[in-house]
Amino acid sequence: MQFDLFQFITRAAQPAERTFTLEIGEGWFSDYSIAEPVQVHFTVQHEGTSRVKLAMWFDVQTNAECARCLEPVTNTYQIRQEYMTSLEELQSDLCDLPVSGRGMLDVNQLALSEISLQVPQVVLCSEDCQGLCPVCGSPRKLGCGCVEQSADERLSIFDQLLS
Ligand SMILES: [Zn+2]
Ligand SMILES: [Zn+2]
Repeated sequence: MQFDLFQFITRAAQPAERTFTLEIGEGWFSDYSIAEPVQVHFTVQHEGTSRVKLAMWFDVQTNAECARCLEPVTNTYQIRQEYMTSLEELQSDLCDLPVSGRGMLDVNQLALSEISLQVPQVVLCSEDCQGLCPVCGSPRKLGCGCVEQSADERLSIFDQLLS
């Protein structure tokens, strides 16, 4: 979704509000996938005489793998972000927003950047996830019941074989 920020700053008096469906192109997210569709809300309003305030909010549900046991993990994140800018900023190199030369703001790209900043790349199914069983390779929380031998036990078996 493109928003003409230049025109808004120079001409519009009333706040603007948009809702759009996020377009997720290839190559943005590799550590998780995003459940679609994502509805993004976006508002712009004048703040004082020379500044504008942008606000964006949406919920995003991610499907990832636990970093320890590889079980699927689904999380929902509430993305809430505000930005301030001005005509001077827009026309200089100081603007951090994804704005083209003519003052067109790429709100879709802004939302994608915010997801990549706010969603952690590493997730666990639970804080105390025990990972995988070293004997059978299944997640320990499933209770496979394998008996793990400690290093001492293995050594004592070794000793018995030698004797
Ligand atoms: Zn886990
Ligand atoms: Zn096991």
